[in-house]
Amino acid sequence: MAAAPEPRGGVKVGVLALQGAVGEHRAALAALGAAPAEVRRPADLADVDALVVPGGESTTISKLIDSSGLRVPLGERLAAGLPVLGTCAGMILLARDVLDGRTDQRSFGRVDVTVRRNAFGRQADSFEADLDVTGVEGGPFPGVFIRAPAIEAAGPDVEVLASVSGRPVLAREGSALVASFHPELTDDLRLHQLFLSIVEES
Ligand code: GLN
Repeated sequence: MAAAPEPRGGVKVGVLALQGAVGEHRAALAALGAAPAEVRRPADLADVDALVVPGGESTTISKLIDSSGLRVPLGERLAAGLPVLGTCAGMILLARDVLDGRTDQRSFGRVDVTVRRNAFGRQADSFEADLDVTGVEGGPFPGVFIRAPAIEAAGPDVEVLASVSGRPVLAREGSALVASFHPELTDDLRLHQLFLSIVEES
């Protein structure tokens, strides 16, 4: 029998479940022994220890954050330092500044980065790239990029952990981790593992 993953004391990790790759994040977190919980309305935030903001369409998710009543309570939790993982659209929604965004989309400013939407252009709508990730052992991480953003500027407390062609695509600021790509669309659990270590640390 395969060894069970190390239990993580039921760390309750919310997954923002308004749109996008929700189930894949849930599965990755559960495989690592965390307790994922879908967040759709303010009450769902009450007892989460951390949050994942998945990919999808940042403009749509932004609207749904408003219409679900999550804008203020989620903004408060994030401002208070809730550990968070944002992937692709999730990275855009956590950024301080967004380039090529729609004028009516809003971000939380949890991470001191400027991101450009669809930064890799039409020719490279989706692609895969092997990423050397600082602090992650065991060889390159398979990055799946889908209409991906890139980080164009980062504040002094932001640590860039991986880049593609010199463009930062994975960064950490304290207990926030943001990725341009989709770790939940691979079988590789190392980035979710990194996130859970960050959650446990904080
Ligand atoms: N391009 C999308 C956006 O701006 C992000 C794509 C994704 O999450 N796969 O929201």
